[in-house]
Amino acid sequence: MESSTSSILYITLGCAKNEVDTDRMRSLLSAAGYGETDDTAEADLVIVNTCSFLASATSESIETTLALAEEVHDGVRSVPIVMCGCVPSRYGADLPPELPEVAAFVRTDEEDGIVGVVDGVLGIARTVPAHIPAVKRTVEGAVAYIKISDGCDRFCSFCAIPYIRGRYRSRSAASILSEVHDLVAGGVRELVLIGQDTGIWGNDFDETVEGPRTLAQLLEAVAAAVRPQKVWIRVLYLQPEGMTDELVAAIRDTPEVLPYIDIPVQHCSGRVLRAMNRTGSEPELEELFARLRTEIPGMVIRTTYLVAFPGETDEEFESMLSFMDRVGFDYTSVFAFSPEDGTRAAKMDGQIDDDEKLERTQAAVDLAEALGFAATAAHVGEVAEVIVDGIEQTEDGPELIGHAWFQAPDSDGAVHLDASEASVGDILTVEFTDSFCYELIGHVVEG
Ligand code: SF4
Repeated sequence: MESSTSSILYITLGCAKNEVDTDRMRSLLSAAGYGETDDTAEADLVIVNTCSFLASATSESIETTLALAEEVHDGVRSVPIVMCGCVPSRYGADLPPELPEVAAFVRTDEEDGIVGVVDGVLGIARTVPAHIPAVKRTVEGAVAYIKISDGCDRFCSFCAIPYIRGRYRSRSAASILSEVHDLVAGGVRELVLIGQDTGIWGNDFDETVEGPRTLAQLLEAVAAAVRPQKVWIRVLYLQPEGMTDELVAAIRDTPEVLPYIDIPVQHCSGRVLRAMNRTGSEPELEELFARLRTEIPGMVIRTTYLVAFPGETDEEFESMLSFMDRVGFDYTSVFAFSPEDGTRAAKMDGQIDDDEKLERTQAAVDLAEALGFAATAAHVGEVAEVIVDGIEQTEDGPELIGHAWFQAPDSDGAVHLDASEASVGDILTVEFTDSFCYELIGHVVEG
């Protein structure tokens, strides 16, 4: 492929799934000869990979793009902006007249064609037509997210993701395992499997597909692929129905798979769940978490609560708080309901006013923090392995930061280490000597 000397600045907003998509575009553009910069002054083009999960995320994506455009207008250079990801997927043809500052829009399902788009914007003509090469995935740092599926078929009434990302598509085991191989060879120490609904991975395969066909089988295959290297495997975004006996056994019996589970319940009330177009009830969910804790001792559980869904009564709100308290979630993300364009819940009766929403959200956050801080403090005195993630500059000088098995990277707090010499990706044995909020102080015992 013809080489280009142009440099691209990548800006990624939103969740880990977008990070994976940006990595993929970066690899494709790098294979096409494009360089990378983290400085707008040096960039020949900026790619903004956007998030549109909530209205606030859409606003942030647009504000970031407009701020870049401002920078362009005030400066000497003119840097074209390519907007990718969820905002173009969601708003499509509405965007070009509204955002003339953007040179090109690329939906999530068009991102494999990013080289052709960037070539077109920069006026680069290739003698060989752009094609999609088999690129290796590389990441900086010790942790890599692997997307095992895209899209979602659940159509929760509050969520725009199925309209943005499309129907559920499992990625093939061969392609996942090939990426696992590249990442582990590149020094990655933790693989985080993600998707909108990881538990149903493989359900959409037809009978001709050979090899792993369920998430449990995929986890076993990934674990076998990383051996004999020491690599942690974590799964996020499991829906309650996805917790089959087979999956519980795979998490319990596969040493590389961490006993950490992320199940967004959104609510415990059967009535609210039904209005959300979800299944389950308080007794069923309680039984699920009790079973997980019994079958996998020491299991760490993360969840999500969507507060103030239309029609949520005071009693339903109180019963959700009581449920959170009884289950004793280690980590809970709390989101206030946001009426998203095009979703059924946005038009439902019983919308809760902003003051009440704020009050309920604050109460839920207070409880989530009380439970989470206590769960973090309970690790003080334990000795466990910690992966070194990097160095942070503090008032007292540089400090090594890592995370333990019970902390999902980028979500659950970190371990602040007293070691001065370690490299990113080292796995150290650490005694936790103190905690603050979700953070732990760690004394390196061995490394
Ligand atoms: S499971 Fe529900 S909340 Fe999650 S992405 Fe699918 S529709 Fe959205």
